[in-house]
Order: sequence, then C-alpha cells, then structure tokens
Amino acid sequence: MRNLCRKTALAALFCLMAGAVSPQEVNVYSYRQPDLVKPLFDAFTAETGIAVNVSFLNKGMVEKLEAEGKRSPADVVLTVDISRLAAIVDAGLTQPVASAILEANIPAEFRDPSNQWFGLTSRARVVFVSKTAVGKGEITTYEDLADPKWRGRICVRSGTHAYNLALFSAAIAHLGKADAKIWLEGVKANLARKPQGNDRGQIKAVWSGECDISIGNTYYMGAMLQKPEQKEWADAVRIEFPEFEDGGTHVNLSGMAMTKAAPNAGNALILMEYLSSAKAQSIYAESNFEYPVLPGAPVSDLVASWGELTPDSVNLMDLAGLRGAALRMVEQVNFDN
Ligand code: FE
Repeated sequence: MRNLCRKTALAALFCLMAGAVSPQEVNVYSYRQPDLVKPLFDAFTAETGIAVNVSFLNKGMVEKLEAEGKRSPADVVLTVDISRLAAIVDAGLTQPVASAILEANIPAEFRDPSNQWFGLTSRARVVFVSKTAVGKGEITTYEDLADPKWRGRICVRSGTHAYNLALFSAAIAHLGKADAKIWLEGVKANLARKPQGNDRGQIKAVWSGECDISIGNTYYMGAMLQKPEQKEWADAVRIEFPEFEDGGTHVNLSGMAMTKAAPNAGNALILMEYLSSAKAQSIYAESNFEYPVLPGAPVSDLVASWGELTPDSVNLMDLAGLRGAALRMVEQVNFDN
C-alpha cells in the first residue's frame, strides 16, 4: 500500500485523505537476526507508538542502499562489526546525527567522532577451551595461541571472516605487521584441521574431541545454552579471556547509523536515542548475551558468570583501517589451506 501511495502525487494525496499513510513509523535494515531485535522494537513501539518496519538482510546492505539511492525507505541500519559499519559510512550512505543523548549514553570509543555511526553492544572474541583438556590459566594471552605446546589442538573458522579479520587487525596493531605474521603462522601451525564452519562449529569440535581450543565470540555461549541440541557443546567448554600482552581482550561491536536518505529522520533519531537508553540496553544485552555500551548498564547474570572482561583499548576505527593488511596477512600465510 505504501509503495502504491508513493507512485504519484495524486495517489499520495488520495492515500493521505484515506488515512493510509502513517507518519508514525521508522524503517530499519538489519543484519541482526529477527529474534535478537524484536523484543527491543516491541518495547519501543509500546512506549512511543512509532511502528518499526524491519527488513532483515544476510548480505549486500551497501549495494541495496546504493541501488535505492535517495528513494531508499531505510531510516536506520543495524549491523555487527566495525568493518561493516565503516563500509556503509565510507560508501557515503549515512548522515551525521548530532544528539546530546547519544553523546551522553555512548562512550566516545564506541561511536564515530563525526557522528556517522554509534555502537550499541560489544562482544569479546575469546577462546572456548575443553574443560577437561586445558587447565585454568594455561591460556592468558592471544600470543599463547601460537605456542607450539598447542600443536594440532586449535579449531577456528575461516581467517577471512570479518570476526577473525578484526582480531588479526588487533594483532597487527599490537605486534606490528612482521610479528603479527609470525604469530599467525604459529596459530596456523597449531590448527587441528582446515578452518571451516562458524564459531559454534568450532565449539562442537571441542565437544566431539577434534580439538581442545576454539576461537569464538562470547555471546555464542549463551545462544548454545538456549538450544537443547547445542547445550552439551556449551557444557563441554569454558570461556577464557585472552589479552594481548600489551593490551586487553579484543572486542568488536554491534551498532547503528542513520541513512542519508532517511525519509523518517525524526523518528529515526527517537529510535536511535531509545536504543542507547538504560532500558533498551538491558533488553538488548539480556536477549543477546552481549555487553551494553551504556556505562553502568548491567550485563546478564550468565554473561557475568563467564568472568571479567578487560576490553582492549585499540581504537575500533584503527582496526577497520587495518582490515586490508589483515586480509593480506591471511593470504600470505595461506591460513585457510
Ligand atoms: Fe555472530
């Protein structure tokens, strides 16, 4: 109906008179799963009366926004990973949002200095180790993963996946290009099998005995515990928070941006500010098992039970900038083969 109403000015006028056009809506393009964001948007609509129309995408958000251009219905984009946020911004598809509320709620390290993107939650990339085969305190640094004592015992997904590229970018930031490459060669030498599958698949491989150490994002522990068939994988492992020798644990974020086209920019701003609020931050963190960006917002009891997170202080934009170097490094060490 909305599209029909947009076809001509006469149709638009007719629709307006017929009450078919509701100004109280906001359109979101999301890379995040429907069940992760639904509780948030339901709470937002209940509070504000503004309907949230969500289009879920698996890939191609930049291409879709570019193809739609000025006529894009999207107001807000939601995604994970700094490199994906940076890609949308770099393509010129966002607009800056000046908001005292966003500035107050979101710490500077989790938002763009020029207000093009804003972080909502963070997640750590950690190791899930076999409860029986790896002792507490045996892995305390990312550098430890290259120790020959772990030969044939590590499982990880493809080195070219965004999650790993961000981690390897952090390794470059801390160690420098030359030593990061030596480190990655060491990690590769310790792999139990060719990189494959997703983060959960590596934890399953620890459960089945193929490896003793896997690299993955924290929230998958919570996600697996919720699925009866995956619970035993989760029960087989323990999370350890490795840190870089001169830094902390690598974190990435999920975030949002207002599109350049944004036909409902006013409502988009209300939504973005809501998502940074204490209430939304606790709903989001509870349902996704992530870390809220709002200082003082509680993590879920489950997340707290995994241990203390000391996030790395390397700037996320710097990590996005090192993505190309990380990809070249993965290719140079032939990580996936
Ligand atoms: Fe994920």
